[in-house]
Amino acid sequence: MTISVLFSMLLYRVASDEFDRALGPRGGDTRIFINSDNVIATREQIIRDSNQRLTGNLVLFNMLVLVAGGGASYMLARRTLVPVEHALEAQSRFSSDAAHELRTPLSVMRSEIEVGLRDKAATKKSHRELLESNLDEVQRMQTLTERLLLLANNHSIELATVDVETVAVEALNRSIPLASSKYIAIENNVASNHVLADQESLTDVLIILIDNAIKYSPEKSTIVVDSSESDRAVELQVKDQGIGIRQVDRDHIFDRFYRADASRSKLNVEGYGLGLSIARRLIELQHGTIRVRSVVGKGSTFTIKLPKI
Ligand code: ADP
Repeated sequence: MTISVLFSMLLYRVASDEFDRALGPRGGDTRIFINSDNVIATREQIIRDSNQRLTGNLVLFNMLVLVAGGGASYMLARRTLVPVEHALEAQSRFSSDAAHELRTPLSVMRSEIEVGLRDKAATKKSHRELLESNLDEVQRMQTLTERLLLLANNHSIELATVDVETVAVEALNRSIPLASSKYIAIENNVASNHVLADQESLTDVLIILIDNAIKYSPEKSTIVVDSSESDRAVELQVKDQGIGIRQVDRDHIFDRFYRADASRSKLNVEGYGLGLSIARRLIELQHGTIRVRSVVGKGSTFTIKLPKI
């Protein structure tokens, strides 16, 4: 508006000087003029009329600029604020979900300690049991806070040449205890192939996928970890024969704290719904993609795609 008003003032000044000059020298002349309404008028009347018309037009123009500019600014501001609003909403949902998840183990610990302290007949053995149970809860909280930190911080990633075969062997070694507890066999078909990635993060992602495959598969089933390559990329696949994921859930499983109903109720599998959101974040930081295909009751296949070297 300021620019428009200043520009209008300048235009008014220049235009009225021009009128003045165009009508010739002032005073003492006997010339007569015909104005735009075909009426005889003096030089001063012509100038006054022209200035008035110019002022009217400039005021109208500035009003239009004010209305149009105001409207456009409002619309633009609203559009610009939408992602900010979403980010704030996501942030507050994240905090409240995180607080909610932390509150459960804390309440369990608190009630166990209170009961333990009130119990006059407590023995060394019952104290030990209490401490062991508390330790379980502390470990759960530790896992949760570590995962939350991973999601909240800008995880630093250093990309280098990584052999996917080494990553698969390392991830499998770390997942073996969980697999053995359910008598699940893991078949490793990953061939040597080099990608641009961060070895530790890629191993973490593969562990998340294999652990999930174990968690959501029946006992004595088989999990296959596979790899394939194209001109530009290498793909790593984790395939299970588990419960599968419904289409409605497939759209959300990479969201923070999302857990499909089946895993909460029927299976009663432990988890916070953070594994896949961490996996996706880590893969995106390595310029890769992660996707899932699944048939309910038959199994799921998670595929990671990374740029090949
Ligand atoms: P968590 O396993 O801790 O619940 P994740 O983020 O790792 O959290 O997974 C989110 C949800 O996706 C799980 O709760 C589960 O419902 C579903 N899911 C993940 N992996 C599989 C899988 N291999 N088979 C079936 N469902 C899965």
